[in-house]
Amino acid sequence: MSTTTTGGRRRRRRRVLVFPLPFQGHINPMFELAGVLHSRGFAITVFHTHFNAPDASRHPDYHFVPVPGDGTPAQGTLVDRILDMNRACEAPFRERLAAVLERRREEEEVAGLVADAHLLTMLDVARGLGLPTLVLRTASAACFRCFLAYPMLYEKGYLPPQDSKLYMPVKELAPLRVKDLYYSRRPGDDEMVRKLMSRATQAVRNSSGLVINTSDALEATELERIRNEHNIPMVLPVGPLHKVSSKTIGSSSLLNQDYGCIEWLETQPLKSVLYVSFGSLASMDSKEFLEVAWGLANSGVPFLWVVRPDIVRGLDDPNFPNGFEVAVQDRGKLIQWAPQQEVLAHRAVGGFWTHNGWNSTLESIGEGVPMLCRPQFADQLMNARYVEKTWGVGFELEGVLERGKIAKAIRKLMKEREGDEMRERAKEVKNRVDGCLEIGGSSHVAIDKLVNYLLSV
Ligand code: UDP
Repeated sequence: MSTTTTGGRRRRRRRVLVFPLPFQGHINPMFELAGVLHSRGFAITVFHTHFNAPDASRHPDYHFVPVPGDGTPAQGTLVDRILDMNRACEAPFRERLAAVLERRREEEEVAGLVADAHLLTMLDVARGLGLPTLVLRTASAACFRCFLAYPMLYEKGYLPPQDSKLYMPVKELAPLRVKDLYYSRRPGDDEMVRKLMSRATQAVRNSSGLVINTSDALEATELERIRNEHNIPMVLPVGPLHKVSSKTIGSSSLLNQDYGCIEWLETQPLKSVLYVSFGSLASMDSKEFLEVAWGLANSGVPFLWVVRPDIVRGLDDPNFPNGFEVAVQDRGKLIQWAPQQEVLAHRAVGGFWTHNGWNSTLESIGEGVPMLCRPQFADQLMNARYVEKTWGVGFELEGVLERGKIAKAIRKLMKEREGDEMRERAKEVKNRVDGCLEIGGSSHVAIDKLVNYLLSV
C-alpha cells in the first residue's frame, strides 16, 4: 500500500533510503535503525555493496538495491578499503539512486538518505540529487569527539604518540590517555587515518543531522560537547539501537549464528558463564591463541568461546592445543559464531571477555554484563577505557597475553568481590540506559525527533 488518507487528503507513503558500510559492526546498527523507522511506518530501501551483501530474503518488507563496482580489494587496511569503496561506488550509486528517485516519484515520497559516516561520497551524491541526508555513527560519541579533535591532538603534540608519553592523560578528552586515542600504529598509515577522520567529520557537517548509537545515560558530556563546541545542531543519541529495534540482529548477521549454545547455556547455573568473543575482525597470532585457550582452561570458570575460523592470523582454521578440548569438555563450549545479543541476555552469562567493539560494548551494557577488556585497534581502546574508568563495569587485561595472567583476570571478574561490584554497577548502568529508552527518555525523544524530521522534509 503506497498511500494513506488523512482527513480526506491522500498522503503518500514515505520511504527512507539507507546505506550501511559493509562490515558487521556497521551493518547491524544500520539494520536496527531501519527496523525502528519501519515500525514507525516508513518504507525502507537498502543500498548495499556486493562485498558482505545482506541477505535480502530475511527482510521481505525492504527493497534492496545492489551497488556494483565496490571493487573492495581483499587486501589493504580497513581504511584503504573504505576509501576505495567510496571511489568505486560513486558512479554506480548515482545511477541507481537516480533510478530509484525517478521510479518512486509517482507513488511515494523519498524522505532522505541515512548513510554510514564513512560513506561521504554517497552522501554527497545524494545531496547532489536534491535528497536530504543524515549520518549514522555506529561508534561512541567519545570516538566522534576524538575525530573532531584530531587537528588539536596533532597541534598539541599528543599525536603521533611517543612511547614515553603513552600513559599521559589527554586532558581535553578525559578520561582518555594518549594510548587510548584512535591511531594506527602501522607505519605510513597516519595520513590515511587522518583522511578517514576528516571525511567522517565532513560527512556529518554537510548533513542535516547526526544519528548516533549511544545513550545520554552513558555519554551526556561527550554529546553536549559535540553539540556546543563543534556546533553540530542536530545530534540524536538514539541508542542502544539493539534495545529499540524490534528486529534482532540475527537477520543482519553475515555468518550463521549457532543457536545450539543457548541450549548449552540452559544447563549452566545463574551468572556462572564467561562469554568470550572478539567480534568480526579482531585476530591474534598462534601463540596468543594458545595462551587464551589455556588461560580459559586454567581459570576453572565455565565459558562459551566464539572461535571464528579466521581468528588466528594466517590460518584458515585454528589449531586447538593438545589436550585442551578434553580438559574443558565439562565446562567449555566452542562455537564459530554466536547469537550474541541472546547470549548476553541469558541468565547464565555473568561476564564478557570482549575486544570492545562499540556494538559488543553496548550489547553488554544493555544486559548489565561486566567486561574483561582486551581492545586491539581503532575505537576499541577508548571504549575499554570508558568501561573501566567512566562506567566502572569492567577492567582491561593489558600487556602480553599469558595463561596465568588470563586465568587470574577471569577469576577476578567471575568469582571475586571486585567482579561482583562491577556486576552491581553494570546493573545500575543498564537501568539508567533502559530509562532513556522509555517514553520521555532521551533516546525515545531522539527517535521521535528523527521521525518528525523525516516526515517534515
Ligand atoms: N556478533 C555476533 N556473533 C558473534 C560475535 C559478534 O552476532 O559471535 C555481533 C555482535 O552482536 C555485534 C557485532 O557482531 O553486533 C560486532 O560488532 P562490534 O562493534 O562489537 O565489533 P566489530 O566486529 O565491528 O569489531
